[in-house]
Amino acid sequence: MKRDLVAHAPATAVRAAWGGLIEAMLDAVWLVDALTLRIVGANHAAGELMATTPAELVGKDVLELAATPEDLCFWGEVAQGLADRIESDTLVNAANGTTRAVTRRVARVQGDDAPALFIVVLHDRSAQRRVERELEDACADLRATLESTHDGILVTDLAGRIRNFNQRFVRLWQIPAELLERREDDAAVLEWMRRSVADPAAYMRRLAAIDGATTPQASDVLRLRSGTALERVTLPQCLHGRAIGRVYAFRDITEKLEADRRIETLSYTDALTGLPNRRLLADRIEVALAQAKRDGTPFALLFLNLDRFNHINETLGRGFGDRVLLDVAGRITGCVREVDTVARLGGDEFVVLANQADARGAEATARRVMDALKRPFTQGDMSFTVTASVGIALHPTDGASIDALMRRSDAAMREVKHAGRAAFRFHQTRPDGADSQLRSRMRLDHAMRLALAQDRFHLHYQPQVDLKSGAVVGAEALLRWHDPVLGDISPGEFIRVAEESGFIVALGDWVLKRAVAQAAAWADAGLWMPVSVNVSALQFQQPGFVDGVAAVLRDAGLAPQWLELELTESILIQDAQDAMLRLRALAQLGVQLAIDDFGTGYSSLAYLKRVPVGRLKIDRSFVSGLPADESDAAIVHAIIQMGRALRLQIVAEGVETEAQREFLQAAGCDLFQGYLYAPALAAPAFEARVGRTGAGPAL
Ligand code: C2E
Ligand code: MG
Ligand code: MG
Repeated sequence: MKRDLVAHAPATAVRAAWGGLIEAMLDAVWLVDALTLRIVGANHAAGELMATTPAELVGKDVLELAATPEDLCFWGEVAQGLADRIESDTLVNAANGTTRAVTRRVARVQGDDAPALFIVVLHDRSAQRRVERELEDACADLRATLESTHDGILVTDLAGRIRNFNQRFVRLWQIPAELLERREDDAAVLEWMRRSVADPAAYMRRLAAIDGATTPQASDVLRLRSGTALERVTLPQCLHGRAIGRVYAFRDITEKLEADRRIETLSYTDALTGLPNRRLLADRIEVALAQAKRDGTPFALLFLNLDRFNHINETLGRGFGDRVLLDVAGRITGCVREVDTVARLGGDEFVVLANQADARGAEATARRVMDALKRPFTQGDMSFTVTASVGIALHPTDGASIDALMRRSDAAMREVKHAGRAAFRFHQTRPDGADSQLRSRMRLDHAMRLALAQDRFHLHYQPQVDLKSGAVVGAEALLRWHDPVLGDISPGEFIRVAEESGFIVALGDWVLKRAVAQAAAWADAGLWMPVSVNVSALQFQQPGFVDGVAAVLRDAGLAPQWLELELTESILIQDAQDAMLRLRALAQLGVQLAIDDFGTGYSSLAYLKRVPVGRLKIDRSFVSGLPADESDAAIVHAIIQMGRALRLQIVAEGVETEAQREFLQAAGCDLFQGYLYAPALAAPAFEARVGRTGAGPAL
């Protein structure tokens, strides 16, 4: 100790007075001469702290060891007699070039006969600083972890005071910033949470039941007034095995609940239209059956299938078809009552469950649905009509189970399809069973083949009248059939059967030959009358159709312009490319082309521009409502204007009244056909009616 405790003057005195004392101290100690501000004594601890020996320290200027402006300033003031004590955390320069964090205390001591000294005690804070830094790091890690979890976290002490939370917690509970700024005001935050839940009383009861120390991990679901649903998981927070508070984790399960709900919804609804699906429909019918059992309330099922919907899908694409289905779904829904159910079974099949409905109610519903579909559908530049076939089954008359009612309404719908579509029909119990329809169709087909062989078909001719001049300028050939057993059968009935069986090809060829022969005969007799012939899709699609037409004209010696072929819109959209080639070939030949029943199919304006047709025939379903029906009037106006723009002649069909004729004339329609002037007439009657004043060869 003697060797180490070295001093300049007055080193000996210093050593004598302080040596033992400072060496006994745990902290580092320097003794500084008050005049020279040089160290005159230091203990072992000081040597260790400063990475040197006490002997090396003796003689050093304190300013050299000071590492902060505060220390430099203090020693400066000491020199001027302005200061003599200080205590604070600071740094000192060690011998090895590092700095040490210390708490440094300086005091002046003045012995009686000794020179004044400063005693500098340096408490090493490096270890403490290390711990502090580790703590800070741990805190930062903890905060980062807290913030990175997807859950909102709230930590409270056992008394329920807030100890910690993360931003996610703030966001989930939408806690206002000003509440959080007043951090000491926990009560306000807790009150905010209480007021945010949908059921504050239940929330408080639950909170009270969670005992800070003893309740183990628990979870429940909170519903906030904002609509958010939170799952709350809580568990005790322990330190050294002792509960010191609780951690609450809140999670944004609204989406999960929403997803659950969506899955539930999807399993009960049709994905495209959002309407109930078959499953939900079955549930609803079950309810209706139960109700009927209780109090005898009747109900009806309307099985609805769109007509020729596959044409839309095949020619215009499924996306387009989907939009039409959506539109149809909306229209059907719009004409049923709140208590009814509209379901989509898939494809173009819908079912309406009309609750508390008897036959009259069911019929009224069917008519409303069909009326709603009558309005034209518009998609882009396309305008068209969609019709539906509807079959109706009633409970209890037609069945006592879901299965029976579905089957019977479906069968009734199929009967509507066979009878020509676009209508509704009730299920009928027939003694000869469900296949009677098929049998009668087969009988009809057989009878037609026989009738053709026996030359029992005739053609009648309906005059086409120029609306301006009143002159008959054409004749539409229409098939007539009188069967000795079955009586008069209208083409409305037999043409469909002939189309289904394929017999229409042979029948159509016969019509073409007969009509062309008639026109040639009239021309020979000086009656120059263009003849229009209806052509079915199947007939038009026959490979030799165009050559066949040319051959028939050649054989009869009739110039092609005296023949007009009436095609339906369905021809245009079935295999559109091939149809276009045929139409061009026919136009090339010089034959006139017309589109029959216009407005009931799916022709697009863009398409019409490219086909070489000369006339559009407005379907008589649009004419029948004229002039009173606004929708019909609008459609007819639109067709006429469109025809004008495309330089097409417009023929109105089924004109029965003078008012209709006047409306059409005023609207700018070119020609009309209808009972107002004449029905289809046998050739002699036609000749008698129009006289010999035909259109003439100059046409
Ligand atoms: P369509 O080609 O549209 O013929 C017009 C239909 O309207 C004819 O019925 C005609 O008699 C009827 N009609 C004419 N004026 C009036 C009127 O003022 N009021 C009413 N309510 N009806 C009127 P029809 O002769 O029963 O023919 C029905 C359909 O059968 C025709 O409709 C046509 O699509 C088809 N059809 C007739 N003959 C033939 C044929 O030779 N070949 C082919 N493929 N189809 C034919
Ligand atoms: Mg026609
Ligand atoms: Mg027509």
